[in-house]
Amino acid sequence: MKSAEEDSTTTSSIREQAKPSVTVRNTRLDPLQKAFGMATILVPTLGTVLAIVLAVVYGVDATALWLCGIMFVLTNLALEFGFHRNLAHKAVTTYPVIKYFFAVAGSMAGTGRILFWIANHRRHHIHSDEADDPHSPHVKRNAAGDVEKMNLAQGLWHAHYGHVLTGNQVNCTLFASDINRDQGLKWINDNYIPIVFTGLLMPAVIGGAIEGSWMGFLTGFLWGGLVRMFLVHQSTWGLASYSHRFGPSPFNTGEHDQSSNNVWVAIASFGSGWQNNHHAFPTSAFLGLKWYQIDMTAWFIVLLEKLGLAWNVKRPSKAQIKEKLKDSVMV
Ligand SMILES: [Zn+2]
Ligand SMILES: [Zn+2]
Repeated sequence: MKSAEEDSTTTSSIREQAKPSVTVRNTRLDPLQKAFGMATILVPTLGTVLAIVLAVVYGVDATALWLCGIMFVLTNLALEFGFHRNLAHKAVTTYPVIKYFFAVAGSMAGTGRILFWIANHRRHHIHSDEADDPHSPHVKRNAAGDVEKMNLAQGLWHAHYGHVLTGNQVNCTLFASDINRDQGLKWINDNYIPIVFTGLLMPAVIGGAIEGSWMGFLTGFLWGGLVRMFLVHQSTWGLASYSHRFGPSPFNTGEHDQSSNNVWVAIASFGSGWQNNHHAFPTSAFLGLKWYQIDMTAWFIVLLEKLGLAWNVKRPSKAQIKEKLKDSVMV
């Protein structure tokens, strides 16, 4: 006979069963999701290898390098300003036309549909470096549902690439229902694949037109499209791997969180590498909290604010910063 504690009809047991899961399992779609994740990693990587080989053999035109730089800045800024600070954390408010522009440009980065991206990111903050964090370099929930601690190499692999290859999906209803209620963002979410292809073809068409050749089209596609996407992926996934492993953590951010401030990732990600600052103040529009903490997205937000194009720009007060510091001394 079962004791009251074991009985699955006890109130606590019912509560536990009714708790929404952070992920959604679908045995039919999971393999497709894994294949999609694999393509997301492999296609830009192989495109980058091909671009480098062609550059060594034939040289590379300046147009292709310019297109790579411009598209990198556009899509990287769109992820950090649009997806991250504007939408995921509501750290700043702007006009709908600017919000949707950066939501489209961020989708061109090829790091996942906007609904998935934001839901997964909010899940990361709520469960930072716990088993339900989608990309902690310290701990993960394995296929059997058990908590698994990882060593340095395993953790860096999982946080950088491995989490992209897991088939199960984040519960978007639980973490990002507000995004799904916005009809414009829903349209951008549903048209993710055509938007990604537009982001690849745009630099190809511009490169072909400027160079007046099919070679210009090809190098525009490779450098402005795939190489640029590969670089943005390294910057974004580097936030999960390196910025939760290497660097100082001056703030108290909870028992499990191991976010750190990593200057190199901060430069590459336009400010998001100040992860410990960010986990301490997730709704702040400024991730660099000291003058020497380079935060290009914050500079962009200041510019928008001065032009009257952004408002409700959230900043922690000096007292709030001091209160959260471990030693009351900024590192
Ligand atoms: Zn983080
Ligand atoms: Zn965040």
